[in-house]
Amino acid sequence: MNLNRRQFAQLLASGAALGAAPRKPNIVMIYADDLGYGDLGCYGHPTIRTPNLDRMAREGMRFTQWYSAAPVCTPSRAALLTGRYPVRSGLTRVLFPQSEGGIPESETTMAEVLRGAGYRTAAVGKWHLGHLPQYLPGRHGFNRYFGIPYSNDMRPVAGPGAGASPKHPPLPLVRNGETIETEPDQRKLTARYTAEALATIREQKQNPFFLYFAHTFPHVPLYASERFLGKSRAGLYGDVVEELDWSVGEVLRTLKETGQDQNTMVVFSSDNGPWLIKKELGGSAGLLREGKGTTFDGGMRDPCIARWPGMIPGNTVCAAQGSMLDLLPTFASAAGAALPKDTVLDGEDMMPVFTGKSPGKERTFFYWNINALEAVRQGAWKLRVAKDAPPTLHNLEVDPSEKYDLAAQAPERVAQMMAVLERHRSEMPRAPLQV
Ligand code: MG
Repeated sequence: MNLNRRQFAQLLASGAALGAAPRKPNIVMIYADDLGYGDLGCYGHPTIRTPNLDRMAREGMRFTQWYSAAPVCTPSRAALLTGRYPVRSGLTRVLFPQSEGGIPESETTMAEVLRGAGYRTAAVGKWHLGHLPQYLPGRHGFNRYFGIPYSNDMRPVAGPGAGASPKHPPLPLVRNGETIETEPDQRKLTARYTAEALATIREQKQNPFFLYFAHTFPHVPLYASERFLGKSRAGLYGDVVEELDWSVGEVLRTLKETGQDQNTMVVFSSDNGPWLIKKELGGSAGLLREGKGTTFDGGMRDPCIARWPGMIPGNTVCAAQGSMLDLLPTFASAAGAALPKDTVLDGEDMMPVFTGKSPGKERTFFYWNINALEAVRQGAWKLRVAKDAPPTLHNLEVDPSEKYDLAAQAPERVAQMMAVLERHRSEMPRAPLQV
């Protein structure tokens, strides 16, 4: 076997040269909140600077047709962590501080899947799958948790640009199961989350780790630390995104410093599109139509960048269709972990696409909005059946902005896709609503 120096070093690091089983990769999932498809430099934003994410994209694979399985926070997180459409878990609505629901015991999270394969697991940041003790990350596969259990605008006092309600308790900052502070200084939140994430990366030695790093921002109200405030050319929103980019850079730098860079898969994405009704406080969906809360692509198509040196080819822009539903089976595949038994998963293992072995294949994806099924995508085509309007048909690969309705020109395709949509709607089991 002829190996160059880098390959030899990788082999040594993997333990294979010593006859040990190859070490399982660490997995880091970084999830922004309400970051739009057009908000990063590498996705075409003209003035927000994201050098770390841009570099991550150059060193890995950047997806252009990657979806959240919901256009708002709670269900999109449920879909990511369970690999299932949110109607299956009942987590279709945004939870509030008064909510008594949360992620059901019957769901298996990707943290539980990976812990079953020997991983240490940590969640940092926004949870939003139930704030009562039985729903917190520690009860759903995470060895540790530090963060805010729901959205940062769910406070008794309105911050800049955000709604709030006097009915809400002070915003809690939670470590594991305990509230350690209330109303934390949100200007410091990204830096504190990042410090926690870096500590997680640094302390892992024996076992591989899974870090779920879900930022609070750029969900409103927006806050940036002093170091970033007023520094971007794109206003406060730009400052906030540039701080998130810094955080990504810190994660990647710390992986290198601790010798884990080659053995870690990092995925970056966002839970849903930009919150356009917040006007200048919200982001941009780029060339996509509309934003958060809608089943136009601007509400659900997100930036997604995957990096794993030596495994995921660098400098790759990938137009294969994928979604957050795919990440549980993909991470399980990378980790050699068993998938949950007796559970219907809606995603697929994307490792063949991530590693460049497959260009991807035609996929069918359903756009759920709360409990309504509003659209289906099959290959390039999207049929949308939002209420009180005739169905519309778009070829998203020709018309990503959903400008040109072709329904009248393609009645057979409309009928065929309508049948696919109706069958999915009628066959999909509905779990009791978590509110
Ligand atoms: Mg969100």
